Amino acid sequence: MRPAELHVYDFDGTLYRSKKAPDDNVFWYMKPESLSGAGLPGFDGRWDLSFVGKARYSILRDDVLAIVCTARVENRPLRARLEALFRKAELPFSAVHMSPVHMMRDVPGYKVSCIQGYLSSFPSLGRVVFCDDEQANLDAVARACLAAGTPCSLFRGKGF
Ligand SMILES: [Mg+2]
Repeated sequence: MRPAELHVYDFDGTLYRSKKAPDDNVFWYMKPESLSGAGLPGFDGRWDLSFVGKARYSILRDDVLAIVCTARVENRPLRARLEALFRKAELPFSAVHMSPVHMMRDVPGYKVSCIQGYLSSFPSLGRVVFCDDEQANLDAVARACLAAGTPCSLFRGKGF
C-alpha cells in the first residue's frame, strides 16, 4: 500500500529519557556505551510508554510509514546498538535515521531535510505526525510542512 502518513519519532527525550552525558560531553552520545543498561519498555522506566504505545500503533498501521529521526550522529557501533534496542523493544520502525556528522550543529535543519526527503520520494504522503521534545525542531518541521502544503500534527516529548 502507498503510505498516506509519515510518523516521525525522536529518540532522546521523546521515546526514551536517556542518561545525561558525564561532564556534559556531547561526544558521549555518539558511543554505544551511552545506551548501556537500556532495557525493555515497562521494565526500564526510561521509556515513555505513551510514545512507545503511539509508535507501536503507527508501526501496525499499513497506511503509515513509521520512522525514527534522531540527532545522534551516524556511526556503525551506535546504529547497531540503537537498532538492537528497537528490535528488543518490539519497535520495528521502517527506518532509523541518524544525523550525518556535517549536520550535527543544525538539528532542526537535519530533521526537516529528512522529512522533505520522504515527502518528495512518496507523493502519496498527505500528513506528517512529528514527535520531538525540542521546540526548535517542532517549529522547524511545522514551518516546512506548511510550506509544502502538508498537514502536520506535532506531539511534544517530555524531555529529560
Ligand atoms: Mg530529543
